[in-house]
Amino acid sequence: MRLIKFFIIIVLFSKVSLANTDSSFPSKNIMKHIEALAGESGIGPRIAGSEEEIQAANFVYKQFESAGLAAEVEPFKAVFRGKKVAEASQNITAIIPGHSTDVFIIGAHYDSVPKATGSMGVIDNAASIALMIELAKHIQATKKPAVTVKFIAFGAEEVGLIGAKEYVKALSKTDHAKIIGMLNLDSITGGDNLYIHSALSKGYDCEGNKASFAASPIYRDRLLALAESMKLSFAKHPGNPSYPAGETGGWSDHAPFACAGIPIANIEATNFSLLGRNGRDGYSQTENANLWTCYDPVKKGYCDKTKEKQWGEIWHTQFDRLDVLNKEFPNRLLTQLEQSYELLTKFVSDEKLLQGEVLLGEE
Ligand SMILES: [Zn+2]
Repeated sequence: MRLIKFFIIIVLFSKVSLANTDSSFPSKNIMKHIEALAGESGIGPRIAGSEEEIQAANFVYKQFESAGLAAEVEPFKAVFRGKKVAEASQNITAIIPGHSTDVFIIGAHYDSVPKATGSMGVIDNAASIALMIELAKHIQATKKPAVTVKFIAFGAEEVGLIGAKEYVKALSKTDHAKIIGMLNLDSITGGDNLYIHSALSKGYDCEGNKASFAASPIYRDRLLALAESMKLSFAKHPGNPSYPAGETGGWSDHAPFACAGIPIANIEATNFSLLGRNGRDGYSQTENANLWTCYDPVKKGYCDKTKEKQWGEIWHTQFDRLDVLNKEFPNRLLTQLEQSYELLTKFVSDEKLLQGEVLLGEE
């Protein structure tokens, strides 16, 4: 009898501990999604407006839907600076209602650069989409978040952030007012180091309309503090002549949100210590010499600026493919994605970290 009691207690305890450590990293699913989007026998390059981009959109939609999330397709015409750049594209959204109607957005683009570059769009940006899908599934399956979390897979980023711009443009005043922050996942694995950025304090162009620009680093700072407490290896970039420490440019989907007055954060894997084409500005992603024409380890950069062809860049190049990445950086993709997964599952489940203005005023 005693023995039986003992076993029951063991079983009970093991169930409790399993439930508490249920953030186990879904590496197999993530790899499957990356292969489906950007593997050799997957969809492949997903240029804005192409059949492949639509296939990728359908893939994301089905993943959201099969997880029981309310997914939506939001089509738009891709016009950039008055020119039509693609027939049509679409954003795919999924929403997880929280205790509050305040909305925190997590977004990533699913399109990629053209096939001619040699890129399959693995790190830029199938890996972020794969992570986002599994993050959404995890949140959906666990406790209700403090605020409503909206996931957006953006189309047509590579041709001028069109999906994100269209999303912001189409917001009603009421929906706009509910958004307390936005986290953009773009190229969150591949490069040597993991960084979290905020918007540029002096603002982006915002197509001439800077009036409501939000430079607040609130979510960058909270995410970095959380990462430190969890012993995860995210850092604030050290700063360079163009960008003060921890601040990033308006070249990805976070920019239209910052322009619309929404505090943003942006995760990126690169290496700000490397000397690339325009200095140590984070464009060169790796010190792996195989990704440079000639790498000088002392200078941490090119040997000869006039002869350098590769610059240690992965995004938009022939190195952004699974075969190359797995060979040059064994285990890196999943190891780095696990860091983001750990960080973001914790971030979304913590009410204080997710809240917007209340804490903004306090800080
Ligand atoms: Zn990208």
